[in-house]
Amino acid sequence: MPRDPRYDILFEPVRIGSHLAKNRFFQVPHCNGMGTKYPRSMTAMRRMKAEGGWAVVCTEETEIDPTTDMSPLTEGRLWHDRDIPTYAAMVEGIHEHCALAGIELSHAGHRDANLYSREVPRSVGPYPVAAMSYPAQARRMDLADIRAYRMSHRAAAVRAMQAGFDIVYVYCRVSNTLNGMFLSAQYNDRSDEYGGSFANRLRLLREVLEETHSAIGHKCAVALRFTVDDLKAPDGTPLPEESRAVVEELAEMPDLWDVNVATWARDSLTSRFGPEGHQEDRISWVKPLTTKPVVGVGRFTSPDTMASQVRRGVVDFVGAARPSIADPFLPRKIEDGRIDDIRECIGCNICASADATMVPLRCTQNPTMGEEYRKGWHPEKVSRWSGGDESILIVGGGPTGLEAALTLARRGANVTLAEASDSFGGRVSRESRLPGLAEWARVRDWRLGQLQNHPNCALYLQSEIDADTALAFEATHILVATGASWRRDGTGRAHLRPISLDGTPVFTPDDLMAGRVPEGRVVIHDDDHYYMASVLAEVCAKAGCDVTLVTTAAEVAPFARATLEQELIERRMLEIGVRLIVKHRIEMARQGAVRLSHVNAAQIGAELPCDALVLVTSRASDDALYRALVAKAEQWEDHGVASVALAGDCDAPSTIAAAVYAGHRFARELDQTAESPELIREFF
Ligand code: ADP
Ligand code: SF4
Repeated sequence: MPRDPRYDILFEPVRIGSHLAKNRFFQVPHCNGMGTKYPRSMTAMRRMKAEGGWAVVCTEETEIDPTTDMSPLTEGRLWHDRDIPTYAAMVEGIHEHCALAGIELSHAGHRDANLYSREVPRSVGPYPVAAMSYPAQARRMDLADIRAYRMSHRAAAVRAMQAGFDIVYVYCRVSNTLNGMFLSAQYNDRSDEYGGSFANRLRLLREVLEETHSAIGHKCAVALRFTVDDLKAPDGTPLPEESRAVVEELAEMPDLWDVNVATWARDSLTSRFGPEGHQEDRISWVKPLTTKPVVGVGRFTSPDTMASQVRRGVVDFVGAARPSIADPFLPRKIEDGRIDDIRECIGCNICASADATMVPLRCTQNPTMGEEYRKGWHPEKVSRWSGGDESILIVGGGPTGLEAALTLARRGANVTLAEASDSFGGRVSRESRLPGLAEWARVRDWRLGQLQNHPNCALYLQSEIDADTALAFEATHILVATGASWRRDGTGRAHLRPISLDGTPVFTPDDLMAGRVPEGRVVIHDDDHYYMASVLAEVCAKAGCDVTLVTTAAEVAPFARATLEQELIERRMLEIGVRLIVKHRIEMARQGAVRLSHVNAAQIGAELPCDALVLVTSRASDDALYRALVAKAEQWEDHGVASVALAGDCDAPSTIAAAVYAGHRFARELDQTAESPELIREFF
């Protein structure tokens, strides 16, 4: 299909220094949990973006030398000439598809403790290390240290050029770069020529930009990544005029401005806390101040929003991290007029969690993300189904069942998907009706939309399947994807056995999602530690309940730190009047009250008045159908059944990303002959 002319503007080439980007799609730096620890995985992932049509593909933040060792995080590392081949391979993969390769050089100042290199941390001042509350401080850099940093940055830029990069970044953000820390009036209390006046605080950034340019400018474009709203006075008052002055002073120095907002949580804002294009108001002032191209981000998935931002002069490049993760082929799909095929990011930040958990990137929408190398998965290509006319019955139309059905259908297999309820989507449908989670429905909608192109997949609603029906269907393979239900008995992390709950109305998340909302004084007990308890607190608060959230963790929603939401969740709880009690578990409930105990000192606790108790503790797999089928194994052959499997939440409850991955994996591997296909490992 030809491209919609409305989007022609997105395919105009744009000059960046001496390089020409073939279109306006720009994969900005993003961490991926692979870096130089899993270099082949990282290379294959970046290469895939180039194949998908991105004009520019960048690395994540990349350490310039051992004085900025970001361990245990898995970031880029370009300390020595020995590191060049890793990056040369990545660049080659990107160039194969006529895209430009960018590298984000970085020195994180006192953010990290240099745990692997054991170099003394250094920064603008003698500040405590930020990461992990590590009990160490940085040394205040003297003039010799500053000179050494500048030379080191220059040397890393030269290595980047030798690796073949087209664009080399100078990075300036207060929280995680030396350039930003020196610029910041909050951190910079120096009395030498690098401190005091704005001009002095800007000196280091200016010098690094100049030196990068003079070292590699003949071959590479130099980009400046600048966080436009994190400069503050020593007392914390925002200094927007200083941010503006940075852009005015340096306007024409870089070949490209890559602008974003502070903090990382607000930069990579989840859909629960903000819509697509949410940065526009905060970055739009930059472009009028420079003739150089500007790239900005905003979880763009709609080509209309992208084209509108370019047309209105907000940005020159459509920057993307998450949309390029959810769909590495987004530009190509727009170009081919296949808008409905775009696998839209849902804004859940499971991808970002790979940074904190230090494992290869994963994505809720795109199960192939991070598996390009070790499993050889391509987001747009699947092998032909080798099972001939063998048919597959999938029971359960949640994310697992939908993904398995779609992938098998794409492979050309004969598939039937049976769902008991009157709509598809399972937990995704239920959860997307909760406050702030509407975009999660894209997991269902994209798959249902794609399935329309596959007449070899029959879809049935209101079809509850029991073991006899499943066998009578005479499919060759049966996949049970029947999900999980929230437990009503209090078992979870804190209680391995049911707790006594006499006389108190008990609700589960499933009850609330089905529209049964409690009344009065509601206690929510969170032993799950992710988003669910806080979202239900919002539901109850909106319904006029008096809400107390009791968590066994040290803070509300601790896993949401990994998805960058913890602080936003905590703030929201406080704003809507939810009382928070941390490090406590519920021991028992009785008429009108619950008894608490401290997780580390059980004798310390209290009684809380409670008209209704909401238990967000753990889920039980709905695997009865699977067990019934296994019990009838001797009948399989008579019905032509060769295999019965279970996957997703009914196997073991987990994230939606894990459910999608499980469905995808089943569909890819069902006809593989090896017992268990071996993962290609890079790291032993
Ligand atoms: P997952 O995340 O693994 O996909 P979900 O709980 O989201 O799990 O979805 C499971 C789906 O399976 C739900 O929509 C549920 O209605 C459906 N289901 C459960 N049991 C049966 C059954 N016996 N027959 C058909 N569908 C079922
Ligand atoms: Fe988007 Fe979630 Fe995928 Fe990240 S994990 S790219 S936020 S869908």
